[in-house]
Amino acid sequence: MLQAFPFDSFFTLFFVLFVIILILSVLTTFLRIFRRPRGVESTEEGTVVVKEREIIREIVKIRCPYCNNLYDEKYDKCPHCGGKRKP
Ligand SMILES: [Zn+2]
Repeated sequence: MLQAFPFDSFFTLFFVLFVIILILSVLTTFLRIFRRPRGVESTEEGTVVVKEREIIREIVKIRCPYCNNLYDEKYDKCPHCGGKRKP
């Protein structure tokens, strides 16, 4: 089907594709620079070495509606006053 295209249309198509690929490659290069995680470095060979992995431990605290103290969400009751957790 490409042979049916006139030369101008084919050239325009090729040019648009070329521009899109160029923009995409520039974008991925920028994203690789700015979104590189900490501890990950590229070597000269281009392989990525993960040196350390950050472990994020999330602790959710709940404020007791009775005594206004903060306590861990793993508890069913408030350890300070024994008040029941809100559903
Ligand atoms: Zn309480």
